[in-house]
Amino acid sequence: MTLPPLPQRLPAAVADAHVHIDMGTGRSHNALDLDKDQAEIESLLDLANEVNVTKLVNVGCEIPGARFAIEFAKRYPNVFAAVALHPNEAPRIAREKGIVAFQAALTEIAELATAEKCVAVGETGMDFFRTTELSDLKIQEESFRYHIDLAKRLDKTLMIHDRDSHQDILRVLDSEGIPKRVMMHCFSGDADFAKACLDRGFYLSFAGTVTFKNATNLREALSVTPQDRVLVETDAPFLTPDPHRGSPNASYMIGYTMRFMADHRGEDLTQLCDAVMNNTNRAFNLVN
Ligand SMILES: [Zn+2]
Repeated sequence: MTLPPLPQRLPAAVADAHVHIDMGTGRSHNALDLDKDQAEIESLLDLANEVNVTKLVNVGCEIPGARFAIEFAKRYPNVFAAVALHPNEAPRIAREKGIVAFQAALTEIAELATAEKCVAVGETGMDFFRTTELSDLKIQEESFRYHIDLAKRLDKTLMIHDRDSHQDILRVLDSEGIPKRVMMHCFSGDADFAKACLDRGFYLSFAGTVTFKNATNLREALSVTPQDRVLVETDAPFLTPDPHRGSPNASYMIGYTMRFMADHRGEDLTQLCDAVMNNTNRAFNLVN
């Protein structure tokens, strides 16, 4: 599949707070190899730079993806890593390979997360859309609690995946105790849920979904989020923003999302880019 055209270059640098480079631009899961696919990977970084997306947090959500994320971040100065077992991956491992394999996978995530370039534990959380069996949901919550504790122990940012599970995310976080830095990846709630997250000090990361025609609730959430708590992400290769919904996604597509967000908020684009970059640095405890 061909990539959509480049948007106009952003007037100031921003970061993509959540991307899956290992998944390429929509090829099969974990298709990219750091050595064999070096040219393709570097072309994605170059395209992002052309649009002024100069920093990436690359997320590995299963063991191969997490290993990739750490090694990738070690090779490129402006790439940082987040690692976890995804809320749908944790029950899959437990169901297909057994509880010992599930625990071993958590242990490996905990080891990978100690890497200096690993800035976040995630994406973890809950997903009631894809995970529905009671036994799977129990594993999902156990895995979420494990990752919350890990983020606290290692002083890494907690990066949350929340699909149709807003209230349960808050229930578990409130019962475990909230880590110092929390970001809601691909924020998907309404203005009330945004306020509940903001009250707890979270950063809200908006993806291409905010540009979708039917996403009125999401735009209301964006409106109530103070400028110092907004992040932007692609979740590439998924969630391509309008006007290219349906095409593959990549970090440079942030150009479309940022313009849309500045427009919607009635803010100066340069100022919003600067704020998003500062927020990213604070959210992930980066030096600059
Ligand atoms: Zn993701």
